[in-house]
Amino acid sequence: MSSASSISLEFFPPRDIAAQEKLVRSAKQLLALHPSYVSVTFGAGGSTRSGTAATVSLMQNLGCEAAPHLSCIGSSRAVLTEILDAYHAAGIRRIVALRGDTPSGMGADAGELRYASELVRFIREHSGDWFHIEVAAYPEMHPQALTAPEDLDHFATKVKAGANSAITQYFFNADAYFDFVNRAQAKGISIPIVPGIMPITNHSQLVRFSTMCGAEIPRWIRLRLAEFGDDRASIRAFGVDVITHLCQRLLDQGAPGLHFYTLNNADSVLAIHRGLS
Ligand code: FAD
Repeated sequence: MSSASSISLEFFPPRDIAAQEKLVRSAKQLLALHPSYVSVTFGAGGSTRSGTAATVSLMQNLGCEAAPHLSCIGSSRAVLTEILDAYHAAGIRRIVALRGDTPSGMGADAGELRYASELVRFIREHSGDWFHIEVAAYPEMHPQALTAPEDLDHFATKVKAGANSAITQYFFNADAYFDFVNRAQAKGISIPIVPGIMPITNHSQLVRFSTMCGAEIPRWIRLRLAEFGDDRASIRAFGVDVITHLCQRLLDQGAPGLHFYTLNNADSVLAIHRGLS
């Protein structure tokens, strides 16, 4: 992979000691790829604020820049202020700012801030330029958006509120990404929009995630995955092949870097990275 392209890695807070040991093993292997930063999810899958902060600290101790995800759904300004101040005091300089989702699907009604754009504005008002702010982008449209142009307008609002760069939801169709970037640039958005990359390792998990987040699994990929049944090794080999091609095309056509959703596993990301020129 060309040294001009940067990669970043996403992890989630482990639930127990065994999961933490696995995370540390994976992270140590993946740090050999010299990521520009690693990020740690918040709230997703039931993880807690303290779990995110503890995992961020663990990653800092492994010697890399770590960025906590912070979602505003269900939160008050007072709680967000406390979290931002604690991250500031811990020397954290980058945050992934999100609206988040509630497990019950309550939508955007819970909490004092309704949308990620309001969280970005709040962070800028409270912390000035201390944090580099990443936001989410959806090349295949956010599942709750009514139309793609409206969703892009909402993305533009987040950028105007002070986001420095964006990470996309994962996708398997490079054209969707380039079309989104072109439409964003036509609106005057010039921040880097880094593709989020999901390795394919588990058929049923991938279908579940994709249904929730609105990522389309192309028919030919679904058919190939169905054909492999429980043969995990074949799914993994096929997944590495498909995602390596996707990443190569994204980089060759100008994507500013790659953000890997590692799911705390090193093997597929390492194999994909090895295959890039
Ligand atoms: P927003 O940008 O606020 O958008 C949410 C929806 O509201 C969109 O449909 C948008 O079009 C619409 N909208 C925005 N502004 C307005 C407005 N003014 N009026 C009407 N509609 C509006 N979730 C977690 O819980 N924890 C995580 O750690 C996490 N990490 C993520 C990391 C990445 C890179 C990505 C892509 C997603 C992540 N998510 C995470 C999922 C994310 O929280 C969900 O996708 C959530 O539903 C939307 O978050 P957002 O920040 O994109 O929201």
